[in-house]
Amino acid sequence: MSTLLEVSGVSKTFDGFKAINNLSFRIGRRELRAVIGPNGAGKTTFMDIVTGKTRPDSGTVLYGDKGQSLLAMSESRIAQAGIGRKFQRPTVFEDQTVRENLTMALDGSRGPFAVLWSRATREAAHRVAELAGEIGLDGTLDRKAGELSHGQKQWLEIGMLLAQNPKLLLVDEPAAGMTPAEREHTTDILVEAAKTRAVVVVEHDMEFVRRLNCKVTVLHEGSVLAEGSIDHVTADEKVIEVYLGR
Ligand code: ADP
Repeated sequence: MSTLLEVSGVSKTFDGFKAINNLSFRIGRRELRAVIGPNGAGKTTFMDIVTGKTRPDSGTVLYGDKGQSLLAMSESRIAQAGIGRKFQRPTVFEDQTVRENLTMALDGSRGPFAVLWSRATREAAHRVAELAGEIGLDGTLDRKAGELSHGQKQWLEIGMLLAQNPKLLLVDEPAAGMTPAEREHTTDILVEAAKTRAVVVVEHDMEFVRRLNCKVTVLHEGSVLAEGSIDHVTADEKVIEVYLGR
């Protein structure tokens, strides 16, 4: 699988504490990857570094066909280059309908000339309907986002990110607070999204990770402790000791 993101020897210290410690790993172009690890393992700091919110003290983060360094790019340039991030809490526009939320996200992805493209075009309406289908909200297009369930809001936000057509989507604990049925649907959305892009899911819920059925990276003290299938990493003695607390 060709590489989309390559993190090599990255370290980050906060007030003498090594949050990320010589971290190295690669993400493929159309890969679904789960990142797990106990609290304080460095998962958030890792995402902050990839999105340019935090700069590492050392190491390299290369991205895309040409292996462009993300460390030389601003947060907004990194986003423009196709790296999207979904935070834990959904940030949809509650007073707007699902259709309007998705349309705004599409417009946003068109840059300063969005107005010429116009939200009224048939192309936009078609893409909005398509996106709604991808996230399973095609029946709720005219409902206000504020009326949606927690799970539906999470899906809408994923849809808004997909509208921007990212090459790499970072998703922070998508299953938190969801019912089992909602979790299952979230799995389907992420698996489908990873067919055309890379998706990295940071998650605590082992059952959710198991259902994603993808390679898992276990972080501990800012480094990769284990990597492989969920069965492989959960059978690893080191993982059992630090993550499962046995
Ligand atoms: P995780 O997301 O896996 O729980 P984090 O990346 O949030 O881990 O944190 C790793 C460690 O780095 C934690 O001990 C945390 O307290 C510390 N840390 C993270 N960000 C900062 C910061 N801005 N200032 C000081 N310490 C930080």
